[in-house]
Amino acid sequence: VTYDYLIVGGGVTGVALSRALATRASKAKIAVIEKHSGLATQASGRNSGVVHVGYNQKPGTLKAKLVVEGGRQLKAYCREKKVPLRERGLLVVGRQGQESTLETLLARGRENGVEGLQILTPREFAEHEPNAAGSAGLWAPCGATVDSLSFVKALAAEASEHGVEVRLGSALWSVERKNGGFEVRTPSGTLSAKRLINCAGAQADRIAHMLGAGLDYTMVPFRGEYYVYAGQDLVRGAVYAAPDLEFPFLGIHWTAMPDGSLHVGPNAALAFGRESYSFKDIDREDLREMFGRGGFWKMLWQRPFLKMARLNFRTSLSQKAFQEEALRLVRAGRPAGFSKGHAGIRAQLVDRNGTMVDDLVTEEKDGALHLLNVVSPGLTCSLPFADHLADMLLR
Ligand SMILES: Cc1cc2nc3c(=O)[nH]c(=O)nc-3n(C[C@H](O)[C@H](O)[C@H](O)COP(=O)(O)OP(=O)(O)OC[C@H]3O[C@@H](n4cnc5c(N)ncnc54)[C@H](O)[C@@H]3O)c2cc1C
Repeated sequence: VTYDYLIVGGGVTGVALSRALATRASKAKIAVIEKHSGLATQASGRNSGVVHVGYNQKPGTLKAKLVVEGGRQLKAYCREKKVPLRERGLLVVGRQGQESTLETLLARGRENGVEGLQILTPREFAEHEPNAAGSAGLWAPCGATVDSLSFVKALAAEASEHGVEVRLGSALWSVERKNGGFEVRTPSGTLSAKRLINCAGAQADRIAHMLGAGLDYTMVPFRGEYYVYAGQDLVRGAVYAAPDLEFPFLGIHWTAMPDGSLHVGPNAALAFGRESYSFKDIDREDLREMFGRGGFWKMLWQRPFLKMARLNFRTSLSQKAFQEEALRLVRAGRPAGFSKGHAGIRAQLVDRNGTMVDDLVTEEKDGALHLLNVVSPGLTCSLPFADHLADMLLR
């Protein structure tokens, strides 16, 4: 067979796109190939599960355009399909001196079209999050948390009903342009396709490079580690610290999941491999490639990285440092309640100058579409992002 659309990567981006294409081009032959034996085993199943609100994204970026609508659509979808969702709002707490950061977030949020944002005093925000600590808070009533794995599975079930073939354990080993289309080598044989869509997350730059695209970029993996806190009613929704606006990542936060469990994290430590989920996991091939790229070395000397490295290596190596950071946000009665949780990899794109790219990046070349920087809030943006990509492919 020759597929009309071959999507590489069974995370939320690839699966949501397969569903969007299948519902709009009902006669098209569509397949998703995923190298692991399940869907959403990487970033899409290893995140904070927060339905983001839209105050962090710089107005004018693609993320800012998608996030508010994305949150609305995601929540409506989960309510309809009975995907576990918890709608208890989101609070950003600021300490003395951070009022201007909260004001910046409020202004960004309003410009991006977020409804209901308010700056509250401690007495006011205690009504929503009685254990949160700070001298002021930005309250977002539309914030929520979702079980991201169940969300991806629901999308995949719908895509399959519309004829999408999902091939698990099917890695793209190599890809070539042939007869105006693509030939993809996988462990179970060669697949042909007219269009190829590269949604391979942390591996997406490699696949793009095989087809002469994305040559300005390299992917740098940052591991985000979580703890689980036993003491479930400490936080009702999600509690964040006022972010350092220079960093690409938000700091450690507290998140009450739909099942009631309380997750704390993630930090952001440079990982020694694209699927290295613990400090001791080292992938020599990934390291060799990363060290061979000029953009990586330039990144190491830039201010945002240096600041981030200082804080995050500490919280990655020391459980005590991590907990101290977390307990600045929430007054916890039992500091002993932490136990090690999951970890995820943020696939951060870095350009030739060593700058960490902020926005989602799409690059089209010779019939292939490459998605190169689907960083947070990629989960929240996934439904309108899939429509945006389907528009590009179907026009
Ligand atoms: C720690 C962390 C916290 C986050 N928190 C949030 C949050 O709270 N809210 C939010 O909105 N977003 C959050 N995000 C961002 C969100 O998780 C991602 O933007 C989103 O999951 C990206 O999805 P994806 O499908 O593009 O990538 P992935 O989920 O990584 O999927 C890519 C898939 O491609 C597969 N693949 C790779 N190479 C190949 C190959 N050669 N052949 C076949 N398959 C291949 C991989 O196995 C993987 O399954 C977070 C991310 C992280 C890492």
